Amino acid sequence: MVYLDYNATTPILSEVRDAMLPYLSGIWGNASSSHVAGRRSREVIEEARGNIASLIGATPDEIIFTSGATESNQTALHAFLDRGLQLVCTSVEHPSVLDLVDTGYCSGVTTVVPVDFYGQLIFSELESAISQLEKTGLVSLIWANNETGIIAPVDRAAALAKEKGWNVHLDGAQIVGRLPVDVSNLNIDYLSLSSHKMYGPAGIGALYIRSGSPYRAMIQGVQEKERRGGTEPTALIVGFGEAARLAAKDMEERKKSVFAMREKLEAGLEHSIPDRIVNGQRIDRIPNTTSVTIPGVDGEVLASLLSERGFCISTSSACKSSAPTPSHVLLAMGHSYENAGSTLRISLSHLTSQHEVSSFLENLTELVAVFRL
Ligand code: PMP
Repeated sequence: MVYLDYNATTPILSEVRDAMLPYLSGIWGNASSSHVAGRRSREVIEEARGNIASLIGATPDEIIFTSGATESNQTALHAFLDRGLQLVCTSVEHPSVLDLVDTGYCSGVTTVVPVDFYGQLIFSELESAISQLEKTGLVSLIWANNETGIIAPVDRAAALAKEKGWNVHLDGAQIVGRLPVDVSNLNIDYLSLSSHKMYGPAGIGALYIRSGSPYRAMIQGVQEKERRGGTEPTALIVGFGEAARLAAKDMEERKKSVFAMREKLEAGLEHSIPDRIVNGQRIDRIPNTTSVTIPGVDGEVLASLLSERGFCISTSSACKSSAPTPSHVLLAMGHSYENAGSTLRISLSHLTSQHEVSSFLENLTELVAVFRL
């Protein structure tokens, strides 16, 4: 199998697995218990919290554990419900934000700001959206898009929002662990993190909450200083903490190697499919993601033929591929319905080898040629 779908999920690194194992068998205390077993769990949970905080330049107190970035995103929004939730987001958010808007969960005014053909936030639209509303609220932005890898200009957007008295949430699921992040230099209130996008286990994530920013627990309970109820899953948290520690330590090396693989991939695509469009190619992107539109082919059929040959890629996000409609992200960027349906997402890793990229390119080229006969 050649796995090129690392934006959907990443494997657990062996160091992460080894760190977790003792807490799956020999050590099982509830971190809220005051006895020695509980205290041991508490200790390692706090150590993990420290590693995650240090990965993003936060203090440990500003990190709460959640079940993943979906919960983190929804928790950040939830904090604004008692204020009638005035929400401004973009049309390329992850479904965990947009679905809330669609289901009517947001009782106040919700404005979905458009993006341009390069997937970039249109500042004048953001400015007019937040200026038109009487009450302030939350601006929620996806930092690195899971489908295209395009990085949003969050510094400028946050400065604009803050100037008007709004709070700011960033969905950092695809960027944290891949590129340096320092919340102490960013004017934001909340940041969502996901462990399984950075070689940690699935089912665990975190929300950074800047000290003093408004907050309202979505799940009630005494844990996490009454900010998120439920017994902490010690083994998952330990794995997440180890994944964060490794991401910080190896970031430069991983970045370089994955970027080189993507260059190889995109050069190969240019050579063998000259009319392909790499979405956001000239825009700031996370270094592992290529979203490529191949006019005239059916993305779903192509992805399934590739899968039969052992290549794992996707057409849009994993969260959408059970209901294959063209990607809302590509449609929002102005692609036709047809082109959006002719798009593949290839997401690489520092674990990806030259050979995997070459053999993917070979198979893709062959299948595209058959399609176009
Ligand atoms: N936001 C983004 C940008 C994502 O890519 C994902 C995962 N597809 C999520 C949120 C949800 O993360 P999780 O699977 O940890 O709930």
